[in-house]
Amino acid sequence: MSGRVVLVTGGASGIGRAAAEAFAAAGDRVVVADVDGAAAKAVAAGLGATAVEMDITDAAQVAAGVAEAGPVEVLVNNAGIVAGGGPLTELPVEILDRVIAVNLRGTFLVTQAVTRRMIAEGRAGSVVNISSIGARQPTAGLGHYEATKAAVDALTRTAALELAGHGIRVNGVAPGPVHTPMTAGLMDDPRARAAWESRIPLGRIASTGDIIPLVLFLASPQAGHITGTVVQVDGGQLLV
Ligand code: NAD
Repeated sequence: MSGRVVLVTGGASGIGRAAAEAFAAAGDRVVVADVDGAAAKAVAAGLGATAVEMDITDAAQVAAGVAEAGPVEVLVNNAGIVAGGGPLTELPVEILDRVIAVNLRGTFLVTQAVTRRMIAEGRAGSVVNISSIGARQPTAGLGHYEATKAAVDALTRTAALELAGHGIRVNGVAPGPVHTPMTAGLMDDPRARAAWESRIPLGRIASTGDIIPLVLFLASPQAGHITGTVVQVDGGQLLV
């Protein structure tokens, strides 16, 4: 696993940060890309990694950030937001637009920029998209977010098909609820946490450490014949 350039979007926090740490620990050259440039710098500094400030919704920033990142071999499309919640009849359309911009448009733009360059430079590689089991199982109030993750799963399959001939594999990891800064408000409230846990057969909320080994595996040569899959890491939540 040594020496690959690994670009992690949203690498300054939560699952992305844990992925950046794990790839760096495995000897890869990590690029922490985040809209929060200061946080990206702080995380990168602790890992001997490079920081790139990049808003993935902005095509010009994505182009510049991907150019700055260098010859990427592994892309982790992790940056994502929920941005609020509420029933479809109530949800402000601005929230829907924002979530689509980051989770769908952003994932699309970064995938396009990175894989175009891989193809132009004749470099094989791997893309891992961080989806969510919400793409396959509804939770009331999260329809706007879940729809974008279902779209990410569709993109994962199409990209896998289109890029296979270039030696580029594309897969997804679909976590159930994970304790990160995104969810800390809910997870640290005992009643809300218990409600989430009651849906999980294995009985606990995931930590980032439950998710990251699969991200590293899918990006590794050991997964060399796996493409177009989206694998859930959810303590069995999709079973019930
Ligand atoms: P987080 O909020 O802790 O981290 C997200 C990071 O993405 C932040 O550093 C943020 O600055 C960055 N970001 C947001 N918008 C961006 C943009 N426009 N451009 C670049 N960077 C941007 O979140 P997390 O919980 O670690 O979530 C990471 C991914 O995992 C997301 O795609 C999320 O949907 C997915 N996910 C999370 C959970 C969970 O329970 N935490 C469950 C399933 C899936």
